[in-house]
Amino acid sequence: MEMLRSLRPVGGLVCLTRYEYGMLGKYAYYLSREDIWFDVRRQQRKTLAIHILSKNKVEIRAPLKCSWLEIEQFLGQKLSWIINSARTYRLESLVPALTYASGSRHRFLGSFRPLVLVQGNQAYTSLDGDNIVICCMRPSSEDLVRRRLHAWYRHEAESYLPPRIAAINLLFGDRIKVPNLSIRKMRASWGSCDGRSNIRINSLIMRESPRAIDFVLAHELCHLRYFQHDKGFYARLSEVMPDWRELERQLTKWA
Ligand SMILES: [Zn+2]
Repeated sequence: MEMLRSLRPVGGLVCLTRYEYGMLGKYAYYLSREDIWFDVRRQQRKTLAIHILSKNKVEIRAPLKCSWLEIEQFLGQKLSWIINSARTYRLESLVPALTYASGSRHRFLGSFRPLVLVQGNQAYTSLDGDNIVICCMRPSSEDLVRRRLHAWYRHEAESYLPPRIAAINLLFGDRIKVPNLSIRKMRASWGSCDGRSNIRINSLIMRESPRAIDFVLAHELCHLRYFQHDKGFYARLSEVMPDWRELERQLTKWA
């Protein structure tokens, strides 16, 4: 692996260095204590795209013949967005940045709603106007409140997702049946599909807007038709949901 050259620093803090090995490339971003790796993946595609894969790994998907200069220009334009997204992703996945005290605000279907905590023997969680009301034995325990809230997201997902899956599956207009659904909390992805007839959706998706949720469902349903993220996959997804790119961007913001 050979180090080639550095991109112009951004805001004096960033050092972005490119390493190249054949047609594959790696960029590293360093900021005092942390670093993010940008892997370049070449594939049959027309445009450049960025995917945040995990807390410190970002993949840049580039057309086979795209020049390094084009990739760097693209990266330069998107850098602050990537860094912010990767940072909030990291906060979200590793450090519980959210608090679970009374009055703290949590998202449900895309809008922030204050928590109202009530003490009681009969535990329940429900929506009351704008508020998410959580009744439990120890409302002063943030850990307990967090678990109750996450259980509620899952419970809501169980009734919300199946009709959306059925409706979006119809948009594909073929004979492929509605898949089996499992809902669970996942750390690093919104959904997955085994390519047969099972999809798994992250219960925390209930924080997102209805359109963003539809995008995740359309993506996974598309995998029943195209297992890989190849040209056919994105062509089909674009037919069913022409604005999927914008919706995908909304999701990774973790706002
Ligand atoms: Zn996928």
